[in-house]
Amino acid sequence: MIMKPADFIQDLQYFGEFGGINPSISDSSTYTFLSAKTMFDTFEGNADGCYLYSRHSSPSNLYLGEALAAMEGTETSNVSASGMGAITAVLMQLCAAGDHIVSSRTIYGGTYAFLKNFTPKLNIKTSFVDITSLKSVEAAITSQTKVLYCESVSNPLLEVADIEALSVIAKKHNLQLVVDNTFSPLSISPKQLGADIIIHSLTKFINGASDTIGGVVCGTQELVDNLRNVNDGAAMLFGATMDSLRAASILKNLRTLHIRMKQHSANAMYLAKQFESLGVKTVYPGLDTHPSHNVFKRQMNTEFGYGGMLTIDVGTLEKANALMELMQGKNLGYLAVSLGFYKTLFSAPGSSTSSEIPEDEQKEMGLSPGLIRFSVGLDNDIKRTFKSMSACMKSVGVL
Ligand SMILES: *Cc1c(COP(=O)(O)O)cnc(C)c1O
Repeated sequence: MIMKPADFIQDLQYFGEFGGINPSISDSSTYTFLSAKTMFDTFEGNADGCYLYSRHSSPSNLYLGEALAAMEGTETSNVSASGMGAITAVLMQLCAAGDHIVSSRTIYGGTYAFLKNFTPKLNIKTSFVDITSLKSVEAAITSQTKVLYCESVSNPLLEVADIEALSVIAKKHNLQLVVDNTFSPLSISPKQLGADIIIHSLTKFINGASDTIGGVVCGTQELVDNLRNVNDGAAMLFGATMDSLRAASILKNLRTLHIRMKQHSANAMYLAKQFESLGVKTVYPGLDTHPSHNVFKRQMNTEFGYGGMLTIDVGTLEKANALMELMQGKNLGYLAVSLGFYKTLFSAPGSSTSSEIPEDEQKEMGLSPGLIRFSVGLDNDIKRTFKSMSACMKSVGVL
C-alpha cells in the first residue's frame, strides 16, 4: 500500500493531556525549568523536548508543524504567523549579501515585491525568469546564485512549474529549490519531485476558513534548527511567530483538507470546461488547452485533481468589474482577494493582488487587465452556480 499525503495527516495521533482527542493547547509564552542547567542547555539548543519561550517554539505549533511536514513528506517544518513570514524568513536564512536568487516572474505579489524592492537593499539580487523555460532558468544562474524559487502553480497566471526538471538544474548548480505550494496542496507533492524546501500560505486552502493568516516552511531538521537558532535564526529573530491558539484551530481544519480539495477541484474543472465551451478565454491546469496541462498531470496526486484556481479573460477591466459586481450581487461568490474559502472568491489580479507588478511587466508576462481570478468554492450544486454565472456574463456583454 502506498501512503499518500492525506493519509499521513489522517494517521497522526495526538492526545490532550487529559486524554482529549485533540491535543491540548499550550497557552503559555514561557516555560519553567526544574533545573537552571536545563535552561542553559535549551538556550544552547541541546535540550530536546524542552520549551523555552513561545517565539522559539510551542507544543501547539509543533503539532501543526509535524502534521504539515507529514503532508509534504519533509523531516519537519516551522509554522509562522503568515505566508510572507515563512517566505521572508527562509530566503533571509539561505542568502547573505552578494548572493543571487533565480525566481519565477509569475509569483505572489508580496513575494515579488520583497525580491524586487526589499532584498536589493541587502545586496541580494534576483533574476526573474519564465519558469516554464528551463533554458531561461539555467541561463540566469550565476556563481552567486543560492536559491531557485518558484510556485508549483503560479499566481495569478496558473503556470505550472516542472519541479522534477527544475530540481535537476538546482542539484547541478548546488542551489536550494524552494517551492511555494499554496495553490496546490495535496495535488502536488514538491518534495517527492525533488524540491528542497516547501512553503505554504496556510491562509488559503489549508486553513480554508478565511479566518486567519498563517504560513509554514517544510524542510530538513537542519534548516528548521537554523531558522529557530536564537543567535542567527531568521524565524526566531524576525519574530513572525504563529499564536498557539491559531495553530490548534488550523490543525483541526487541516484534517478535512483532502475532502475540500477534491470538491474545489471538481467544481473548478466543471466551471473551466463550461466557460471554455462558451468561448470564454479560460486558463485551468486541468484543461487540455493549458500549456502545462501535461506537466501538472505527470506531477499530480490524481485523486485531488487540478486544484480550485482558474482564470478567465473578459477583455477589459470595466467588464471584469461589472461581472464581478453582478456575480456578488447574485450571491455566487464574493469580490475578494485570497483563496481557498467555501464560497467562490473572485478578483482582478492586475488591479489588486498583483498590482505590485508594474504595468509594463504585467503586460509582458501576459497579465491582462480583463483577467479575473476565481478561487472556486465548495458549492454543492455547481451546475446551478454555472447557469447563474453564464447569465451574469450575458448581461454584462461578456457573452
Ligand atoms: C497568499 C499567498 C502568499 C502570502 O501568504 P500570507 O499568508 O498572505 O502572508 C504567498 N504565496 C502565495 C502563492 C499566496 O497565495
